[in-house]
Amino acid sequence: MSGEEFRERLAAVRRRIDDAARAAGRDPAEVRLLAVTKTVPADVVRLAIEAGCDRLGESRAQELVAKVAALIDVPPPGPRWVFLGPLQTNKARDVAAHADELHSLDRIELARALQRRLEAADRTLDVLVQVNTSRESEKSGVAPQDALGLVREVAGLDRLRVRGLMTIATRGGDDGEARRCFRELAAVAGRVRAEAIAGVVMDELSMGMSGDLEAAVAEGATTVRIGTALFGAR
Ligand SMILES: *Cc1c(COP(=O)(O)O)cnc(C)c1O
Repeated sequence: MSGEEFRERLAAVRRRIDDAARAAGRDPAEVRLLAVTKTVPADVVRLAIEAGCDRLGESRAQELVAKVAALIDVPPPGPRWVFLGPLQTNKARDVAAHADELHSLDRIELARALQRRLEAADRTLDVLVQVNTSRESEKSGVAPQDALGLVREVAGLDRLRVRGLMTIATRGGDDGEARRCFRELAAVAGRVRAEAIAGVVMDELSMGMSGDLEAAVAEGATTVRIGTALFGAR
């Protein structure tokens, strides 16, 4: 892919986000784009960074480590790396060392492992709790009714900063089903926010991908995670 082709795709995605925001009566600036670079080669990721993508999402620890190393020479400030896939506890060290945000926190054991690794690396990590709003058994994420309890426990870990929630809509569902998932995530965030837990900020709703970003923006997304629409089919 050429830099020009990428910039055209990026502009088209940004237009979709802006149109969806205006249709919902929202300020387009409230919705940030996270470019999902999993499986995308480092030279194409470099084009994305040059085109202005400053927040990049990876879903495998090994690939995150390799991409960070391959792109270590980009001019500062460099991209913010987001980990958004299922994470095994034994890979916590890689994420603690290299990621700036984790959007897939789904259990306290993982949070504790990250806390230990972050202490050792003297870093902090912004985290979003992943909520399984689709209730599909193969999806990760806590059940909606368990999100508050997990947030309360994570709030006690000083290296993890809870910033919001993340969800993935039902696979193969229609627009109405996607909106139901996204509306439920917003409702869970509202319930957590009402508890006013010390150290917990609930201003980030990471929801919406290439196929359902309009539904997510309509329901209050502050970050949409876009892979296919920017980089092509994986
Ligand atoms: C791959 C992935 C995306 C991007 O999905 P596209 O449909 O390619 O835009 C978003 N979120 C998560 C968690 C992913 O794993």
